[in-house]
Amino acid sequence: MAILSMREMLQQARSGAYAVGAFNILDYNSMRAVVDAAAELAAPVIIQTSVKTVLFWGYEPVVQWYRQLAGSVSVPIAIHLDHCKDLEVIRNCIKHGWTSVMIDASSKPFAENLALTQQVVKMAGPKNITVEAEMGAIVGVEDDIHVREQDAHLANVEEAERFCGQVSLDCFAPAIGTAHGVYKGEPKIAFDRLEKIAERTGLPLALHGGTGLSDEVFRRCISLGCAKVNISTQLKYAHIGGFVDYYHNHNKEYNPLKNLAAQYEKLKEGIIKDIQLFGSAGKA
Ligand SMILES: [Zn+2]
Repeated sequence: MAILSMREMLQQARSGAYAVGAFNILDYNSMRAVVDAAAELAAPVIIQTSVKTVLFWGYEPVVQWYRQLAGSVSVPIAIHLDHCKDLEVIRNCIKHGWTSVMIDASSKPFAENLALTQQVVKMAGPKNITVEAEMGAIVGVEDDIHVREQDAHLANVEEAERFCGQVSLDCFAPAIGTAHGVYKGEPKIAFDRLEKIAERTGLPLALHGGTGLSDEVFRRCISLGCAKVNISTQLKYAHIGGFVDYYHNHNKEYNPLKNLAAQYEKLKEGIIKDIQLFGSAGKA
């Protein structure tokens, strides 16, 4: 594995006007699909783990899969903890070998969000672990974070600039109108706000709620400064769909390895399309 922190990965992506895919894995099979897709396309990639997934399997198994899989290919691969508001979980991920973490204190007022984010940067910095933080409220459900539509609000440009000026971040996630989960109707993306935040903070931005956006919206967000694109819901659907569809078509077989193989192919196929769309193929 080429050693490259998420910081360098995203800075290169931002200056090259492409984005690195950050894929939420669920188990070894889905992590393998992400790694194999990236290796096949010579793309840098981010393996993303939700808090729920980490707690379901335990820290050590997840990080062992990462070491084994990422260690067997030459493309740079980071492992990143997605939306986390629990400092204890962040501390454990840092201890066990995650290379990047996200502190999500976006539901807190500005000063509290900033203080918690500063605390995480202090924990991560000495170990050269990168940090992503969020501002605003992204509608939908992510892990145990539920944001109702009427409570969603976009990140404010001035506040975003002030926030990022007071803490050394590697990646910033402003709420710009995307949603976690499945879109109901056409999402309204605040492109002007996204552009201003990217300019004023100078940071690579993370685009959350990537599943279901049109190719056009992806391209535009990436051209305006999104260097990390989070894909989670798509993998959840492929994980279940790949397995179940195989079962429905071969329901006398009872050979779970074949179901798992179909699941892997379904996951990988979607990931390959994403990487190609984000422009990171061939950038490793
Ligand atoms: Zn998210």
